[in-house]
Amino acid sequence: MTYDFAVLGGGIVGLSTAMALGQRFPTARIVVIEKENRWAAHQTGHNSGVIHSGVYYRPGSFKARFCREGNRSMVEFCRANDIPHEICGKVIVATEPTELSLLETLYERGVENGVEVHRMGPDEVAEVEPHVRCLKGIRVPSTGIVDFAAVARAYARIVEENGGELRLSSEVVSLRADSRSHQIETTAGTFEARFLINCTGLHSDRIARMAGVDPGARIVPFRGEYYELRPERRHLVRTLIYPVPNPDFPFLGVHFTKMIDGSVHAGPNAVPGLMREGYLKSDFSFRDSLETIMYPGFWRLARRHHAEGRREIRRSFSKAAFVRSLQRLIPEITADDVVPTHAGVRAQALLPDGKLVDDFLLVPGARSMHVCNAPSPAATASIEIGIAVADSLPDQPNLRKVTGRMML
Ligand SMILES: Cc1cc2nc3c(=O)[nH]c(=O)nc-3n(C[C@H](O)[C@H](O)[C@H](O)COP(=O)(O)OP(=O)(O)OC[C@H]3O[C@@H](n4cnc5c(N)ncnc54)[C@H](O)[C@@H]3O)c2cc1C
Repeated sequence: MTYDFAVLGGGIVGLSTAMALGQRFPTARIVVIEKENRWAAHQTGHNSGVIHSGVYYRPGSFKARFCREGNRSMVEFCRANDIPHEICGKVIVATEPTELSLLETLYERGVENGVEVHRMGPDEVAEVEPHVRCLKGIRVPSTGIVDFAAVARAYARIVEENGGELRLSSEVVSLRADSRSHQIETTAGTFEARFLINCTGLHSDRIARMAGVDPGARIVPFRGEYYELRPERRHLVRTLIYPVPNPDFPFLGVHFTKMIDGSVHAGPNAVPGLMREGYLKSDFSFRDSLETIMYPGFWRLARRHHAEGRREIRRSFSKAAFVRSLQRLIPEITADDVVPTHAGVRAQALLPDGKLVDDFLLVPGARSMHVCNAPSPAATASIEIGIAVADSLPDQPNLRKVTGRMML
């Protein structure tokens, strides 16, 4: 059988795209092809679980728009589908005088992005987070927490209920195309589809190239490690506590996150990964490492930002350095209060000139679309990204298209 759409990758972006396609094209035959034996096995299942609000992002960017709208649609989806979540809000705090102007810029950016933000003095911060010491803060009430893997599983259920097919344990190993369709060879057989959508996260650049499309960037994995507060010290954190981010690297800067299961995580840091799906410090892939070190963009990035890079690597190997970063937010935290827990690996697209691709990146090909950069807040924004991908596809001559806002 020939599918109308094959979505490669069963993370939150692939599954939301399949869900949106099913609503836009109700008669379409859709298949989602995932290499692991479960949904959300990689970035979607290894993150901070924060439903972001959209404060940080450049006004006018896809990230800013999709995150603000995605915050609302994610909360609406969780309510409609009984997925445990909590809108607990977060505080971003300046602990050094040099951070005060950055905090103010962040406040203004939040306002510009249409996000509710409130300035706070140190006493007001202490009312929300009594253990934090800071000079000033801002509160973002719409930030929430959820288990994004549970959200992704709910998307998969909806795709199936709407007639889509779900294939786990099917790794795409090669792609061929003729004038009519794509032949997708996987470890579980060959699929044929008229249109292909690549949502393979950490492997999206490779899959794009397999489809004959140059994504113009290379995925470089950045591992993010977390510590967890011991249960008897969880009371030190009530909601989410963030430092003022480095404007060049908004994803740097460890923060405290209350998770939806009640645990409290601290992290993540960001260190170059030696394996695209390597969650342990010792994980190593010759191919992945070689591709990174042979890429001129990586060395340009490393040269430009060697100080931040060295600091992140030190924090990865030294618990004391990690704890010192946490003490900037909560001075009474000690090394005995935290234990190492899971890690995640970010798929970050890097340009040949060494600049990180900041925004979400969709690269069109011949009867194909490639999601080549979907970093944080893509889990928050996943419903909006799925709709945007479905809407970016050309009309399909054999398929009826439903327009208008989609039902959650
Ligand atoms: C440490 C960390 C913290 C984060 N925190 C947050 C947060 O708090 N809030 C937020 O909104 N976002 C956060 N993010 C970002 C968010 O997790 C990602 O943006 C999002 O999960 C990306 O989803 P995805 O579907 O593109 O990728 P993935 O979830 O990685 O899914 C890609 C899928 O493609 C599959 N695949 C790959 N190659 C093949 C192949 N050859 N054949 C078949 N299948 C294949 C993989 O197995 C995988 O399941 C965080 C990310 C990290 C790493």
